[in-house]
Amino acid sequence: MEYVASLAFAKEKDQQDPLNKFREHFYFPQRNGKDAIYLCGNSLGLQPKNVKAAIEQELTDWQQCAVEGYWAAKNPWLYYQQYCSKPLGAILGASQQELTVMNTLTVNLHLMMLSFYRPNKQRFKVLMEAGAFPSDQYAVETQVKFHGFDPESAIIEVSPRPGEHLIRLEDILEIITKESDSLALVLFGGINYYTGQFFDIPAITAAAHKAGAYAGFDLAHVAGNIPVELHNWEVDFAVWCSYKYLNGGPGAVGGAFVHEKHASNRDFVRLGGWWGNEESARFKMEKGFVPKKEAEGWQQSTAQVFNMVSLKASLELFEAAGIGALRSKSEGVTNYLEFLLQQLNGINFQIITPKNCNERGAQLSLLFLDKGKEIHQRMTDAGIIVDWREPGVIRVSPAPLYNSYQDVFHFYEIIANIASNA
Ligand SMILES: *Cc1c(COP(=O)(O)O)cnc(C)c1O
Repeated sequence: MEYVASLAFAKEKDQQDPLNKFREHFYFPQRNGKDAIYLCGNSLGLQPKNVKAAIEQELTDWQQCAVEGYWAAKNPWLYYQQYCSKPLGAILGASQQELTVMNTLTVNLHLMMLSFYRPNKQRFKVLMEAGAFPSDQYAVETQVKFHGFDPESAIIEVSPRPGEHLIRLEDILEIITKESDSLALVLFGGINYYTGQFFDIPAITAAAHKAGAYAGFDLAHVAGNIPVELHNWEVDFAVWCSYKYLNGGPGAVGGAFVHEKHASNRDFVRLGGWWGNEESARFKMEKGFVPKKEAEGWQQSTAQVFNMVSLKASLELFEAAGIGALRSKSEGVTNYLEFLLQQLNGINFQIITPKNCNERGAQLSLLFLDKGKEIHQRMTDAGIIVDWREPGVIRVSPAPLYNSYQDVFHFYEIIANIASNA
């Protein structure tokens, strides 16, 4: 693809983009009297305009049905998580029985680890990527301690080689093989939040299984960004949040995937609650926990309707756009962003995200060796919203559902201006 660094080119690309109309379905924050250049959907997705009506629907049903809303609401609350898990199936490559939405990400990670991290004296190690998101590090550290092991010896981190920023697949696979006698769990981020590196989920999963370990993934930066095939790849479990690319709003309900081969096993160890059993048995209030033979068998509490409703509304847009089409557009826009950044002079940064499209999603991470914070401030003053992550990265992430080629071009224009006045 030949790209041109011009507004006319970006406009033409937007005109040809069949998904361009979805932009109209979102509210953009205002900066300097106009729409901000929002390239931060990897951190918090924008508000879809259909959210307000969806929330009002539940308020109306609560007002008019009260407790009967569990059965009589327009969207009966008893099944509320399914209004999200059904459309998530196409995005995550899983059946509805393998998916649910509940709690929040870190909580779900703990719940899944209680089932899938069952260490013994021989097999007690967890393998993860060095530089994983802090919450994941804390979750693993405290789980290891909870089971009476020492994080020093029980957690193995795979790092980039000296002088490199990305983790090589061969190094991950080699450590898995080397530790195959003691490895209990391989827990990776699907995409590393800092570098934007998308890991080879099927290869890591296959290696973990060969070593006799379970494979779980934190898909916080994957869900709604890159389509995955969790069922076919035989991933054991996955968790994610819904407020990044999925636009579920701040603190929105998180999600969990449990592979059918485990989900269908009622004896799989877990911590239970009444929302984990069959709906038909739920109100019998009987003794003895009998989980659903589904990922929903890990649910504990009554559906958090108001934490799910914006996600439900946002997923309607994902269904209408199609995750395959979104991914194609995303590759085009992010490649254009990369092309434009390569045209810049007079500004000292390096793109540390993989060059290969198959190893990244929407995000590019720009590593600044100096003046990064100052440049981030100047971007912010000029109406750009992107985030700064210590120690030195600005993450730029065009979300294909609402960002355009023109957004990326305007971003480039502003940095080119900053660079020429640096
Ligand atoms: C965003 C993110 C989280 C946040 O966890 P919460 O429990 O939703 O606060 C955790 N892990 C990763 C990898 C993330 O990117």
